Amino acid sequence: MPGFDEYCEEIRDLWDSRWLTNKGAKHEKLREDLKRYLGISGVSLFANGHLALEAAISAFEFAPGSEVITTPFTFVSTVNAIKRCGLKPVFCDIDRSTYTLDPSKLDALITERTCAVLPVHVYGNICDTEEIDRIAKKHGLKVIYDAAHAFGVICNGKGVASFGDASMFSFHATKVFHTVEGGAVCYSDSELANKFGVIKNFGLNPKGDCVYTGGNAKMSEFHAAMGICNLRHIDSEIAKRKTAAERYRYRLSGKDGIILSPISDRATSNYAYMPVVFDGFTAERDQIRDKLKECSVLARKYFYPAVNEMCIYAEDSEKTPVAHDIASKVLCLPLYADLDTAAVDEICDIILSF
Ligand SMILES: *Cc1c(COP(=O)(O)O)cnc(C)c1O
Repeated sequence: MPGFDEYCEEIRDLWDSRWLTNKGAKHEKLREDLKRYLGISGVSLFANGHLALEAAISAFEFAPGSEVITTPFTFVSTVNAIKRCGLKPVFCDIDRSTYTLDPSKLDALITERTCAVLPVHVYGNICDTEEIDRIAKKHGLKVIYDAAHAFGVICNGKGVASFGDASMFSFHATKVFHTVEGGAVCYSDSELANKFGVIKNFGLNPKGDCVYTGGNAKMSEFHAAMGICNLRHIDSEIAKRKTAAERYRYRLSGKDGIILSPISDRATSNYAYMPVVFDGFTAERDQIRDKLKECSVLARKYFYPAVNEMCIYAEDSEKTPVAHDIASKVLCLPLYADLDTAAVDEICDIILSF
C-alpha cells in the first residue's frame, strides 16, 4: 500500500469536485499514466480484471457458441469469462517449462467454430506470442491474452500489452500493481476505446441510447487514486520482490526434485510469483504445504486443481497431461516487497529440512 498520507493527499480534490466515478479526473490520470508505463495507446479501465476480460471477449462480437481455445492451467476466471460470454472453452495443454499454452498443440484443436485463442501469461512468463500469432493469423482467429500476472513485463523490447488483439490486466489487491479491485484492457486498435466505454456503462452510447447489453464495470475515482499512488512506487516494489526472488533461487536451485521457472532471455520479470514444482523431491507438494502452514507460512496451491478438473468444466484431464501434472506438483511460495532475506531463509530451511 502507498503511505496513508500519500493516499489521503491524492483523494483530497474529490471533496471539492464531488466527482466520485464515471470517468473522473483520477480515472483519466491513471489511464494516461498507464499508457506511458505500459507503452500502449489503448487502455480502458474496469472495476476488476474479470469484467475487463469479459469486455475484451465480447467486444469482438463472436457468434454465440463459438469456441475459444485456452488452457486449464489458469485461474478459473479466464474460463468463466469465456463461458459467461456465451462461448465454449476448449482446453489446450501447456508447455512444461513456462506453464503457458503450448502452440504445438494448437492446430489440432482448431475447428470451423473456433473464433479466438485466449492464452495466459502464467506467473508473468510470456507465452510464445510469435508462434501463437502465426497460427491465429493463418486461421483468422483473434488473440486475447490474459495478462493478469504480467503487469509491466517487457518482451523482446516491447511491452507485454502490445501482443495480440487485446490484453487483460488485473489490478486486484493480490497483484504486483493494484487499485484494490480493478483491471484494464489494452489494445492497439483505437476503435475499441469507444466500444469499451459503452460496454462498461450499461451499453449506453454517448446519446443515451442502449446499443449493447452492457453491465456496469466502471472504475471509481477512489480506486483510480490508489492506482496513481501505487504506480509511483512500482519500480521499487518490483526491485524489492526481485531481491527476495533471487534469494529463493540461491537457496533452492540445483536441489534434487525442485524445479524453478527458467529465467527468460527474451523477457523481463515482474517477480509476481515464486512457483516451485516438486517433482521427485523427498516430500510431496501437499506435505510441504502443510508443514509450511504449521509454521504460519501460507504457500498457495496455485493453480490447483486445473480448471478442467473442476466440476463444471470436468473432462478427461488426460487430454492435458502436462497441466494436470504441474497442477499436482506446484506450490507458490510467499513473495512480496517486504519479505526480507531472513524470512526467505526460514521458508527455505523448512522446505529443505525434508
Ligand atoms: C487475478 C486473475 C484474474 C481475475 O482478475 P480480478 O481482478 O481478480 O477480477 C483473471 N485471470 C488470472 C490469471 C488472474 O490471476
